[in-house]
Amino acid sequence: MTDDPLLRIEKLTKHFPVRGGLFLRTVGHVHAVDDVSFEVRQGETLGLVGESGCGKSTVGKTLLRLYEPTSGSVFFEGEDITQMDRKRLRSLRKDIQIIFQDPFESLNARHTVGKILAEPFVIHKVGTLEERQQRVAHLLERVGLDSSAANRFPHEFSGGQRQRIGIARAIALEPKLIVCDEAVSALDVSVQSQVINLLLDLQREMNLALIFIAHDLAVVKHISDRVAVMYLGEIVETEIAQEIYDAPKHPYTRALLSAIPIPDPTASRDRVILSGDVPSPITPPTGCRFHTRCAYATAVCINQKPIRERINDDASIACHHWEKISNDRGVSSSNISSSI
Ligand code: SF4
Repeated sequence: MTDDPLLRIEKLTKHFPVRGGLFLRTVGHVHAVDDVSFEVRQGETLGLVGESGCGKSTVGKTLLRLYEPTSGSVFFEGEDITQMDRKRLRSLRKDIQIIFQDPFESLNARHTVGKILAEPFVIHKVGTLEERQQRVAHLLERVGLDSSAANRFPHEFSGGQRQRIGIARAIALEPKLIVCDEAVSALDVSVQSQVINLLLDLQREMNLALIFIAHDLAVVKHISDRVAVMYLGEIVETEIAQEIYDAPKHPYTRALLSAIPIPDPTASRDRVILSGDVPSPITPPTGCRFHTRCAYATAVCINQKPIRERINDDASIACHHWEKISNDRGVSSSNISSSI
């Protein structure tokens, strides 16, 4: 792994218009992603986590320009994706791929697996017909499927096998980065670990970078080198995976982690119960967006947005009181409100 960022996202913002009234005028905006910045290095996995609706999938789709960004930049190997024309964007698809949660929806049910997997070679004019067939057979073997699978249709496979087909299609053109958008969330736990191990093997073989988007923090821990935590469209903390699980600093990260079940029945962990509902992304709270649910919130949190502070090359945090909170270990819902 080199230290040069393969991908650098700067202040990426995506707002969706909300339409209403007789003439369907724009009456507001959903602030799905606001001022999101992070880097991904070659060969590393960045886990992007948060509750559903926090904007993590929108980040994945916007950086690929499946959604047009409202503002911000996405540099891939130094080139700004947001400024690329359609032709350049099409050729970039060789280097950046995406795997979706539901492989069944993303695979054309009327095409054989062979045709689905040959499609990237056809689009990018790679190889002759015979070479493409050989490449398809090789791809299937690489993801642990028999080459005879090429003659069958997606509905003939299990969910895990279909996700393997989705992965085979994603690696067909030897990309440098894959966005895995809740790629294992719909699978059984045992199948999840097989698919994750496959992704890790491919990552090692191909020096692939992965952005692994998931709401399940236990899964993210297993696969990630670093983790970025999102809340209501913003990144609130980034850190090396082990470190964030051992010593989370942001109150929201601490609450998320406290909800992960511990496999050891004799061990216990104080659970941080978040009060209130997730606020509307159409009218996000002033100041720190987490203040309506944070037991540490003070007046400054309500009035002033915390700037995400870089602690070191891997870690950053957006919280006015993180240093005080970090010293408060074993926090629980009953004691956190009195700790500041
Ligand atoms: Fe809580 Fe304030 Fe930190 Fe936001 S800035 S997480 S409200 S303590």
